[in-house]
Amino acid sequence: MNAKVEYSLFDDVNKVVDDAASHMDIHPGLLEQIKLCNSIYKFSFPLKNGDGTYTVLLGYRVQHSHHKLPVKGGIRYSSFVNEEEVKGLAALMTYKCALVNIPYGGAKGGVRIDPKKYTVDQLEKITRRYTSELIKKKFIGPAIDVPAPDYGTSSREMAWIVDTFEAFNPDVINAKGCVTGKPLSQHGIEGRTEATGMGVFIGIREAVSVKEDMNALGLKVGLKGKKIIIQGLGNVGYYSAKYLSEAGARIIGIAEYNGGIWDENGIDIERIKVYQTENKTFKGYAKGQFIEDGNSLLTKPCDILIPAALENQITVQNAHDIKAKIIGEAANGPVTQEANTILLEKGIMIIPDMYLNAGGVTVSYFEWLKNLSRVSFGKLEKRYDMKKYEELLLGIEKATGDSFSEEQKRIIIKGASERDLVNSGLEETMVTAYHHMNGVRKEKGIKDLRTAGFIVALERIAISYTDLGIFP
Ligand code: NAD
Repeated sequence: MNAKVEYSLFDDVNKVVDDAASHMDIHPGLLEQIKLCNSIYKFSFPLKNGDGTYTVLLGYRVQHSHHKLPVKGGIRYSSFVNEEEVKGLAALMTYKCALVNIPYGGAKGGVRIDPKKYTVDQLEKITRRYTSELIKKKFIGPAIDVPAPDYGTSSREMAWIVDTFEAFNPDVINAKGCVTGKPLSQHGIEGRTEATGMGVFIGIREAVSVKEDMNALGLKVGLKGKKIIIQGLGNVGYYSAKYLSEAGARIIGIAEYNGGIWDENGIDIERIKVYQTENKTFKGYAKGQFIEDGNSLLTKPCDILIPAALENQITVQNAHDIKAKIIGEAANGPVTQEANTILLEKGIMIIPDMYLNAGGVTVSYFEWLKNLSRVSFGKLEKRYDMKKYEELLLGIEKATGDSFSEEQKRIIIKGASERDLVNSGLEETMVTAYHHMNGVRKEKGIKDLRTAGFIVALERIAISYTDLGIFP
């Protein structure tokens, strides 16, 4: 297996951290403490193949920062998993959680396998064995380290993890909170699937609501009529496109690895998704133009470009040709460091991944809270609220002599469901974090939101140490 060891994501992350720290008054010892990974667990374990032979697999779990516990971060199954990548992704989780003010330290895990080459039975064995290795070293638990899905894993793997953890820890009452992103039947939470895309939508909506910033880009305020190109119509890309187009934006191009679709009049997201699911390609779709080289769409003129597929998509090779005014990093690491510099020089606004895709971890946090409290959100207060609203409407009707229509009553009286509360918490988190980050950018007189995001994160992490008197 060929891991990409020559490139260090961890070093790349630390370069941005150093840049952000240069705008702050932070003790060098404290900065070093924050940057390093606190615990790294690298292990191998055997998998028995169907023909009686064995394959030895490599697994990692990296806990980047213990300034808040538990630590949190996904588990990735990919043939490219390597220590530098896991360390870098764990570090990013620390800064992401700090920026959106979610009380976790950062972590990440991985197994170096191509999951497509294994049967479901083998993947179950691998996941259960990986989990038991983490249990042995106390690298998992609702108070210690809480994994989630990432590239190559899904709610299915999370269900195997929680089942294994519970089998080893029958006396841990909060055991369900040892992992998030679980299926609903395993105490997952409503709204987790669409959370990252909804967060992307809210983040972009906030960015385009700031008049001063839109004036600087020569754009009108608001989403209405904004021309958007998206790369990747998977989970994050689809939900981002759905909510953005529902808010009045026009999705004019979608790039996939096997071709793109282009339509200046706007693409119907629900229809194209159904077509893609059925045909595994956009080729043959009745409306718009099929583009063989899907990723050529990245350099077409638009207002907002949203890479929502993979890392390393906007590089020195194509950065000079990007014509978008705003890039919304829905994927993790879609813009390389060098490309970032080129884009900023071109005056393009980049909404950084550490902020824009934080909707996933935010709703994971709500899932963990639900698991600790052992009750779904809204269960206790919903009927109570409904009665109160009903009485209020009756009072208004009596006082005014007017009456509300049945439809008005239905909307007003409706108590909040778990999904309503999750969406409300997600919106609050994304809105607050955007304006804080953008405010710091202006206050410090710096160009980019990414550096500002890291400053906010570093300030929050630093205070955890200084308040304990560990550093001055
Ligand atoms: P996904 O697998 O559901 O979707 C990825 C999509 O990108 C697929 O449709 C795939 O065909 C397409 N794609 C792959 N290679 C491509 C290429 N070369 N060109 C164009 N399209 C390509 O994955 P996802 O969950 O939507 O994640 C996308 C990105 O968002 C990843 O970087 C992931 O780390 C990040 N992210 C996801 C979440 C989440 O909750 N799912 C949370 C935070 C960050």
